[in-house]
Amino acid sequence: KQRQPVEEARPKTPVKPMTATEVKVNVSIPEAAERAAATGADGVGLLRIEHMVLTLGKTPERYIEQNGERAYVDEIISGVREVAEEFYPRPVRVRTLDAPTDEFRQLEGGENEPREHNPMLGYRGIRRGLDNPNIFRLELDAFRRLFDMGYDNVEVMFPLVNDAEDVLRAKEHMIEAGIDPDKREWGVMIETPAAALGIRELADAGIDFASFGTNDLTQYTLAVDRNNEHVAGLYDELHPAVLKLIGDTIETCREEGVKTSICGQAGSKSKMVQFLVDEGVSSISANIDAVRDVQHEVKRVEQRLILDSVR
Ligand code: PEP
Ligand code: MG
Repeated sequence: KQRQPVEEARPKTPVKPMTATEVKVNVSIPEAAERAAATGADGVGLLRIEHMVLTLGKTPERYIEQNGERAYVDEIISGVREVAEEFYPRPVRVRTLDAPTDEFRQLEGGENEPREHNPMLGYRGIRRGLDNPNIFRLELDAFRRLFDMGYDNVEVMFPLVNDAEDVLRAKEHMIEAGIDPDKREWGVMIETPAAALGIRELADAGIDFASFGTNDLTQYTLAVDRNNEHVAGLYDELHPAVLKLIGDTIETCREEGVKTSICGQAGSKSKMVQFLVDEGVSSISANIDAVRDVQHEVKRVEQRLILDSVR
């Protein structure tokens, strides 16, 4: 595996998929990279960095206070690099930090976290990033340094955006961190009805891809807390309202030349896979243990679509 400096970065070359619809894998812990890559997935559809940060045992603010910014950036680089290396040249979508305040509260320094009645509706994802750019920028610095090291398979994804303003502000930070949005693949998660309904404006903001975070999209569409056992029976990722938001978003993205994907748990379920392939999604990212089944399900649905079209 030869790395190239960023000046001579390779063109964006997609890895040939087994199916027309790419099947990728979700990775939450860098140590799982090897097992994830062995599935034959076409890339990583979601690499979470929360585990890398939460295992420091301190809030980012406290960790940086004690160890400096450079050490924090190095921690992120080391975790992402493990996955980017294992998958190279297959693409790896890395998401900026998205931990709710109740998770930060468990850590040293957590006493300074805001007290929230409902952390899932609160200070997390891109809202926190934009409100606290000093920390957010360190994540982007880490990604930029990975590009400089030759990991041109890294892609940047922003969580919990609501509208084009969120996206344009995040993009501005990316540019200031030295990442050229025209040269790198970057995009957003579609996790709120607002993001799905405003997809045309998000596309205009320049995203390359939109990835459905159905864990959150379901809870916000149905007003069902994903962590509340009393309403767990109402939590339905295949609810017609959720599917309508997803279907309409895919259609607009196709018109706009934006790739679509799913990285929520529902991407591992066969009914959702059937729906998404029917709708023409570009890729599906599944849990490690589900990748093989999803690959077969995608193939089956694609073959049925071909047969239907010639009948
Ligand atoms: C989602 O919301 O579907 C998602 C993948 O993000 P997370 O589960 O980390 O909130
Ligand atoms: Mg989410």
